[in-house]
Parts: sequence; C-alpha cells; structure tokens
Amino acid sequence: MKRLLLLGASGSIGLQTVDVVSHHRNEFCIIGLSVGYQIDKLHELLKQLPEVKRVCVAESEQLASLQKLYPDILFEAGESGLAALCAWNEYDMLVNALVGFRGLIPTLTAIQYDKDVALANKESLVVGGELIKAELEKHSSKLYPIDSEHSAIFQCLKGNEHRAVDKLIITASGGSFRDYTREQLQHVSVKQALSHPNWSMGSRITIDSATMMNKGFEVIEAHYLFDIPYSDITTLIHRESIVHSMVQFKDHAILAQLGTPDMRIPIQYALTYPLREKIYDSEPLDFDNLSTLHFQPTDLKRYPLLKTAYEVGARKGNSGAIMNGADEAAVAHFLAGRISFLDIEAAVQGALEHIDYVANATLSDLIEADRNARTYVDAFAERKHL
Ligand code: MG
Repeated sequence: MKRLLLLGASGSIGLQTVDVVSHHRNEFCIIGLSVGYQIDKLHELLKQLPEVKRVCVAESEQLASLQKLYPDILFEAGESGLAALCAWNEYDMLVNALVGFRGLIPTLTAIQYDKDVALANKESLVVGGELIKAELEKHSSKLYPIDSEHSAIFQCLKGNEHRAVDKLIITASGGSFRDYTREQLQHVSVKQALSHPNWSMGSRITIDSATMMNKGFEVIEAHYLFDIPYSDITTLIHRESIVHSMVQFKDHAILAQLGTPDMRIPIQYALTYPLREKIYDSEPLDFDNLSTLHFQPTDLKRYPLLKTAYEVGARKGNSGAIMNGADEAAVAHFLAGRISFLDIEAAVQGALEHIDYVANATLSDLIEADRNARTYVDAFAERKHL
C-alpha cells in the first residue's frame, strides 16, 4: 500500500487524483491533504477518504472549528503547515498539485525527507530547478511528472539510453487564441481567454496556455526533469492535443505518446509506475473518427513569452522566480479585469528588466524575487487601471 500526501486536493488535478485513487483502493491511500480556502470541498473529500490523518488549510482561523468537527484529524494552516506536512515521516509519495510558487517549498521539503514526488506543480522546477537538482543529488527521492507533456516524454524515454536522445518535442495546443493575430489579441476578454479548445483546467493554466507562458514553463520543466539542454528542447503546435509529446532519438526514430486528453492517465502512471493499469470510466482514442492530426511550428514572435522562458531558463539564478511571480500576479490582474491580455506579457517582461538579477540564488533569494515581481506587477496594474 502506497501512502500518499496530496497537496492541492480541491483543485482540478487534486480531484482527479482522488478519482484515480478511489479506483485503486488496494494500492493507494491518501493519508494527508491540503485544500487552501475550499472548506466546502474539504468536507466532501473527508467523506470519500477515511484514511486521512492530517489536513492543511490556508487560514488558521478555520482550525478550531475543523478540529472540533473532526477530532481524529490533525489540522494545520498556512505555508508552515504545508512544510510540516511534507516533513511528516508516515507518507511514501507526495502528489504536489498546488498551483504557483507556493508549491516550491513542499517539493524541496519532501525531497529533503527522501520522499518520492509526483509533480504537477511545474513552478517548483521553473522557480527552483537548480535547488531541486542539488537536493535530488543528495537524497534518494525520485520525481515523477504529472504534466501531460512530460508524462508523454517520460513514457517515450523508458527503456532508452539518455545519450541516445536527439531532442524533445513538446506539443502545444496553442491555447484559446491560437487563430488570432497579435492585433486581434488587443481586445480579447477574460471569458474568451478561459475557454480552452481541448483541456478543462484551472483558470491560471488556461490563461498561461493562451499566452504560451505555460509552454515556456514546460520547456524549463523538461530541462530539469530529463537533463536535456535547452537547445535540444523544441515546441510544436498540435491543435488536437492527441500527441502529448515526442522524443526524437539520434537515429532519427521518433517515439510519441498518444491518447485522449484525460489528465487521469498521467496522474495514474505517476502513481503506478513502472506498471500500467486499467483506467476507469474512460474511452480509448477512436481512430475511426480521427481523420487528421495537424502540426505547425511555434512562432516565437506570436508567442513572445515562450521566447522569454528560453532566455530565463538559460539565465538561471532568480530569473525563473521573477518570471513566475510576475506571471502569477499579472494573470490575477487580468482575471480581475484590471489589465488587458497583452499586458500580461508586458508585465512579465517589465519585471525581468527591472528586478535585480541574482546568480546562484538561495531559497530566500527566490522568495524575495517572487515578492519583488508581484510588487512590480501590482504597481504596473495600478498604472494601467488609472
Ligand atoms: Mg502541460
């Protein structure tokens, strides 16, 4: 029985992880979780997950009433609560489905305690890739990707030698505005941005797909997960999101992983690896009704944040923390109607220009860079809003 700690349990990936676990009750149990602000969803989750012994919520004001309602569960709150949960010795694998910078310290803590990590929080690697790499060298922990593209690459690499890899080809749907020109992007609404053509996901990642910031994050994520230089990581627009990514080898053979866009497949594979098991309530890809797969090169002029991410990846230091912090803040301002869609790009690039670069950044340097980036973008949004 593998004992799981699930952070971000009430989000899209968290709930799908619960669904996967509910169909594998003899193999996995969730013994601890975090939910942030969604206390109503917590009650539902605790009904489904009788093995939960520890829970972390966002606000300490909630603790007394929850503790009274569930006397057998230990409740904690905030970032210190998350870190304490990750340092707990009773679990075997952390499933990190937190969104954003706050996922970094839990990932680092789990690795420091020799726990395996199934990673949906790509920001951990975007922001703290160098720190995580250093910790992985000192500990027995392993990272298992939950991102669909990285799960695809992980599957294609299995059984092949690292030195035989020629390049990674990360596919991208192109997001909600893939058929828009730069000019047409000037007046797009939040509602339009939130309607992703293929995947149903949280709001931050849906906006990040439309700007391709998400794809940029995934390039950095791939670099750290698979130890491949940035010059050998490419992206390719693939409208149907059927080919989840590919690996080209030195002999020019290309392996791809295909399937319906269902995040439970990468989640389950991260949990059951190296085994493949039956997936429930899912239809396989129907080739009878699949006439064409489209591929087109990604245009870095059309998606400038993708280019920015390559530059940030090469620069290392605190620049990933600046880029991510600025993007998190800018997406929040866009969703609140305070800045335009294209302002997201300007905010991220402005933050990278204005905030001091620190090479060999420590954890506290990253925390400071994240904070400075948010402050910069808040001021940017204030100026735009007036
Ligand atoms: Mg992805």
